[in-house]
Amino acid sequence: MIYLDHNATTPLHPQVLEAMATCLREHWGNPSSPHSLGNQARLVMQRARERIAESLGCGPSEVVFCSSGTEADNLALRGVARALRARGDHIVTTAIEHHAVLHTCDALEEEGFRITRVPVDPQGVVDIEALHRSLTDQTILISVMHANNETGVLQPVEEIAGMAARRGIPFHVDAVQTAGRLPFRLRDLGAGLVSLSGHKLYGPRGAAALIVREGTPLQPILTGGSHERGLRAGTENLAGLVGLAKAVELAVQDAAQESRRLEGLRDHLEERLVSAIPGIRLNGAQARRVPNTSNVTFPGVDGESIILGLDLAGICVSTGSACSTGEPEPSHVLREMGLSRRDAQGSLRLSLGRSTRQEDLDLTVQALADTVARLRRITSV
Ligand code: PLP
Repeated sequence: MIYLDHNATTPLHPQVLEAMATCLREHWGNPSSPHSLGNQARLVMQRARERIAESLGCGPSEVVFCSSGTEADNLALRGVARALRARGDHIVTTAIEHHAVLHTCDALEEEGFRITRVPVDPQGVVDIEALHRSLTDQTILISVMHANNETGVLQPVEEIAGMAARRGIPFHVDAVQTAGRLPFRLRDLGAGLVSLSGHKLYGPRGAAALIVREGTPLQPILTGGSHERGLRAGTENLAGLVGLAKAVELAVQDAAQESRRLEGLRDHLEERLVSAIPGIRLNGAQARRVPNTSNVTFPGVDGESIILGLDLAGICVSTGSACSTGEPEPSHVLREMGLSRRDAQGSLRLSLGRSTRQEDLDLTVQALADTVARLRRITSV
């Protein structure tokens, strides 16, 4: 099998699996319990928190463990909105965020908040001037993703962070697609809140974190015990958090080298695709992108049919966000970049990862060329 869907999820790193198995066997106590088994679990959890903080460049007390990138995004948006309701009612985000952010904004809008969804240019980069113009003294939060999960296009988050800081507005970055994948320190992003998720970086599902920088106003969204400094109630998934810490540590260690390798492979893939299949278009390829992602339009061909054809050949790709599989709607991200409904439906995302080798990509190009030619023949009769 050739797996080219690493933006949807990644396999567990063997060392992560080992660390989790040890934890499940040996440290099954509740970290909140007052006895020695609980103390042991608490120490293991504290060590996991410290490893994440060291790897990413933040303080251990700034790591708030939670269950998914989706929950981290919810906590950031709803938590700041609640904390600052008395100060203002306006939230700024972009039109191409993951549904974890966009649908949370829809829900907040129903609660009476005003939401600005800033558009992007044809390369998928947020219109920073429009974002700037949208800010008012009622703005209580800006939320912009670091890299888009469908196109890999990077957003100018450092610049937006400066804008937010000058106006004293909390800034949230959804870094689910970049944490542990790109070599950066959290401090460099300049955000008060950063979401990351274990299963995108060879860690487990069900383990994620919201990094909350000191002094960022935030209220909890779950009611219950006083876990995670009162910010996230619920007995911690200790083995998951140990796995998350191991995964972050390993990913950060080789992020620089691995991202250079993937960039070379991605460029090779795109060159081969362009020469093998007439008429295709690479979406967002003129913008700064994460090195592992390619989003390609095959005009006149249905993306879902290509996926089925490739699956039969043992190759896994997707049309975009895994969460939208089964939804008939074309990608909101590609539509916002100006693609027609038909072109958006004829687009695929290929996302490379640790297991990807050049031979896999050459086989994929061949399978794609055959599948697209076959589908074009069918649609032309
Ligand atoms: N944000 C982005 C940019 C994502 O790509 C994803 C998952 O695809 C999420 C948030 C949600 O993360 P999780 O699957 O951990 O809930």
